[in-house]
Amino acid sequence: MTTASPASATAQYDYDQQDASGATCTAHAWAKVPAPLTPVQRRELKARAAELLRARGAVLVAHYYVDGDLQDLAVETGGCVSDSLEMARFGRDHSAQTLVVAGVRFMGESAKILSPAKRVLMPDLDATCSLDLGCPSDAFNAFCDAHPDRTVVVYANTSAAVKARADWMVTSSCALPIVRHLHAQGRKILWAPDRHLGGYIQRETGADMLMWNGACIVHDEFKGLELELLRREHPKAKILVHPESPQQVVEQADVVGSTAQLLKAVIELDAREFIVATDNGMFHRMRQAAPGKVLIEAPTAGNGATCKSCAHCPWMAMNALQGVIDCLAQGQGEILVDEPIRSRAEGCIRRMLDFVAAQPAAAIAQPMATGMGAA
Ligand code: SF4
Repeated sequence: MTTASPASATAQYDYDQQDASGATCTAHAWAKVPAPLTPVQRRELKARAAELLRARGAVLVAHYYVDGDLQDLAVETGGCVSDSLEMARFGRDHSAQTLVVAGVRFMGESAKILSPAKRVLMPDLDATCSLDLGCPSDAFNAFCDAHPDRTVVVYANTSAAVKARADWMVTSSCALPIVRHLHAQGRKILWAPDRHLGGYIQRETGADMLMWNGACIVHDEFKGLELELLRREHPKAKILVHPESPQQVVEQADVVGSTAQLLKAVIELDAREFIVATDNGMFHRMRQAAPGKVLIEAPTAGNGATCKSCAHCPWMAMNALQGVIDCLAQGQGEILVDEPIRSRAEGCIRRMLDFVAAQPAAAIAQPMATGMGAA
């Protein structure tokens, strides 16, 4: 373990980015990302998927990072496009008995944990997340066993088995007020898995946080130095940053927040240009909600001969219209979460939802914080 400051420390665990042969963890995912569709194919597949959603009494719950056609399909058929917090609430509260979750696996699991009587389907069960992969439950349980005096707070991007061990689940929409609340009660925190989000919250709250050493492979790629150079080219642009990004990037932000909070900032801030450090799938909804505003991707290392560094999640990109059709037509891609893992995991999610319901304005409506450029 390395000690970063008296109030924050990082565990020795890290995410293994390569397998034994040196292949990156995302090679499998990129290989499954479907080829772009022609306009005719898009129209036909969308119509077929909409028909099946209606016929099966199902509702589509999509994340902001998935393909724009899926986002549009969700809106047009009475589903929702949102961040993981709102996805969980929407799926729980909707009357449909079949939920199709377009996103990554932990989102489908959260839907099933909250709605065990509903059928939860996903377009591709292989769609996962580097944060989830980097926090295996056996190692995480050992980490918790070694620190029984700490309140266990986990990010939504974890497996059901990890959530089953947690006291609280948080999303990036509500992590800051929940940790602030726990810190005010004098609690010491064990945080997992995202080291950048955890570090940001620790700096903002001063809480005593022992941290797992995971990262999102998309946000981890944003570069502080290159962002500084880009800002000089666009001096009037507001900088919007998701807190899964490295500290050097977060420190340059006008607004730090979840996807929903960054969307709100694009709509409401009196600026024409925005440099956005989050998955570029988000731009689809931002462009629809704020036409006329100029959105610029925050810089990553770019594509090289041996690696791919871009602002897009390969697991989110695996979600496709054909996958929605296949899961509804053939009943494939069903999410199942065994008891007693499910009921144990439900406790930490419900605690978060109850907290947010009691303080909706503090937790959700406001961006998490403003940085140096204070909007
Ligand atoms: S964008 Fe990052 S945090 Fe989100 S699913 Fe992909 S790897 Fe996980």
